[in-house]
Amino acid sequence: MRVYAIPMRNRFRGITVREGVLLEGPAGWGEFCPFLDYSDAECVPWLECAEESAGLHWPAPLRTSIPVNCTVPVVSPERAHEIVAASGCATAKVKVADPGTPLSSDLERVAAVRDALGPGGKIRVDANAAWDVDVAVAAISALERAAGGLEYVEQPCRTIEELALVRRRVAVPVAADESIRRAEDPLKVAVAGAADIAVIKVAPLGGVRRALKVAEASGLPCVISSAVETSVGLAAGLALAAALPSLDHACGLATLSLLTGDVATDSLRPMNGHLPVPTTAPLPDLADRYAADAPTTARWLDRLARVTALR
Ligand SMILES: [Mg+2]
Repeated sequence: MRVYAIPMRNRFRGITVREGVLLEGPAGWGEFCPFLDYSDAECVPWLECAEESAGLHWPAPLRTSIPVNCTVPVVSPERAHEIVAASGCATAKVKVADPGTPLSSDLERVAAVRDALGPGGKIRVDANAAWDVDVAVAAISALERAAGGLEYVEQPCRTIEELALVRRRVAVPVAADESIRRAEDPLKVAVAGAADIAVIKVAPLGGVRRALKVAEASGLPCVISSAVETSVGLAAGLALAAALPSLDHACGLATLSLLTGDVATDSLRPMNGHLPVPTTAPLPDLADRYAADAPTTARWLDRLARVTALR
């Protein structure tokens, strides 16, 4: 068992250092890294995901490489252009609706992204639940025009009911992300007619096998996304993306660049907009370099013991 702490390039979800535990089992390594604001009960599926990765082999992959998107944060149009052009990805996810940022700057940013991608590229925007229904409808139409077409809009509003209302009023497909955090959520979203696409993360759903069942039960096309894990945890996301019966969209698994380092030498970094599908998680041979200090290690081992006791 290894506890790691890796500084992030930028603040994300209020954190500047990504921490977690790497577990070794008969099949290899798994990663337990729920965010610090999660309750012990919410961490149980994260532990099950780590244990699956360490203890069992993943379901047979149906593909050997996974297309991934690059991510464009709230930056200038010039910087957005650079990020997309340097990424090699054919799909870009653009963060919009950041508090304090006017829609006009979002419009300029998506236009710059279109210029960098060319007409064949795909642009998705993520509002992280920032809009109400009317604001969402107006903003989505304006963004679609500025972007010259949108693949989808991710979580325009907070609630499932609001997503359903927006979906009825715009032609752009709607994806649910924050609305899906537990195994029963994708079904709720589908039944409510709230989304065209489900954003699925493997750890909060309890591992590759369970997430696969949830994805199939939802009946929605899925986009597999990371929880900003190291390569050990990302490998499980890739195993899920590889095992889905169909995969119509690029996945949000190219997130290692958000961290300043990785626990593995054999890092899962994209090449030409794709990530390879590993058969097991990469060996965390650099875990010592990012070993957490003694208080952090004690805190994580304590958390792991509490969550283990809840299973
Ligand atoms: Mg999102």
